[in-house]
Amino acid sequence: MSPTAPLPEPCLTISRERFARLLEVLREDGYRLVGPTVRDGAIVHDAISGVSDLPEGVGESQERGTYRLESRGDRALFGYAVGPHSWKPSFFAPTVPLWRARRKDGSFTVLEHGAREQPPLALIGARSCDLHAIAIQDRVFLGGETIDPAYEARRRRTFVVAVNCGRAGGTCFCVSMGTGPRATLGFDLALTELLDDRGHRFIVDIGSEPGRDVLARIGAEETTPEDREAADAVIARTAEHMGRQMPTDGIKEVLYASVDHPRWDDVAARCLACTNCTLVCPTCFCSTVEDRTDLAGEVAERVQRWDSCFTMEHSHVHGGSVHASIKSRYRQWLTHKLASWIDQFGTSGCVGCGRCITWCPAAIDITEEVAALRAPARR
Ligand code: SF4
Ligand code: SF4
Repeated sequence: MSPTAPLPEPCLTISRERFARLLEVLREDGYRLVGPTVRDGAIVHDAISGVSDLPEGVGESQERGTYRLESRGDRALFGYAVGPHSWKPSFFAPTVPLWRARRKDGSFTVLEHGAREQPPLALIGARSCDLHAIAIQDRVFLGGETIDPAYEARRRRTFVVAVNCGRAGGTCFCVSMGTGPRATLGFDLALTELLDDRGHRFIVDIGSEPGRDVLARIGAEETTPEDREAADAVIARTAEHMGRQMPTDGIKEVLYASVDHPRWDDVAARCLACTNCTLVCPTCFCSTVEDRTDLAGEVAERVQRWDSCFTMEHSHVHGGSVHASIKSRYRQWLTHKLASWIDQFGTSGCVGCGRCITWCPAAIDITEEVAALRAPARR
């Protein structure tokens, strides 16, 4: 299924009121709802209780190094492109306690260890690029010989309500990466939001049996031919208005052949090694382990926390860091993301969400860097 192709048949339609009921039913079934909401001048993912928490009528403009909320002047609930939060923290948590112990009588007692049971999670409004990113992280954390128990505990019971993007953000390039804008995998229900003189409604693509069951409980109508056409037009328009492009033909070979390209010096002069790009990236998965004690020295704990290949410590082996310069760290990040990731996991490590472009304080643009690497090197 192509992520730019028309919606599959048959489709069903739910009104805005029935969409509100959908969220209620998921809550009644014990799901904790996580969805988009406005906080601190951005649309972020957080716990929501219903439709009133969604960013109604809020859109945004984003470009390299800039992000601004804007009023859309309508009642759209999902009329924005991806914000700073992916769904990564929902499954690959920023910090995970591994164990905690208390000193006692010259020895110690382990207070807790191992993965904790997690409540079932319903993701509301997940976009296609992010569903591809979740599939990539599933492969990393669950697809190998060793399964990450903390990730598995969070991921196990998930219900996904995807939303097909109604507009492309200024830094989006999912069409280049083959990951959007239409959701084709990893969802229980996928909605296309329509808002016109025929009313506010959602065209629903069913992705799983649990999705079909929930939809049957809230009730849905057969989609009219006019609405199918309108929903397909929304997706086609989004695909045509990508903010960026990044041709991927031969990209692995380009990166592998660019080890000595002078562009690395150029980008290193601008990069602050702030780690933002890796923290907002929905596929980056590096972590480190820290040991902590309380001030009295009575309680000790080991915690896993997100790390970034832009830090000096990330590549520290005995005697020093392998990637001591920003140049080598940026080259390592981009080469892994777009080349060695393919050898390692069978897909690109980039889904074209554009977050690393928007949230880079130095306005570095991955698509521009790749275009520069493709150009013949001038030394
Ligand atoms: S590329 Fe940008 S976001 Fe990434 S580390 Fe460098 S300055 Fe920070
Ligand atoms: S590398 Fe940038 S554009 Fe690609 S998935 Fe990560 S944050 Fe998104």
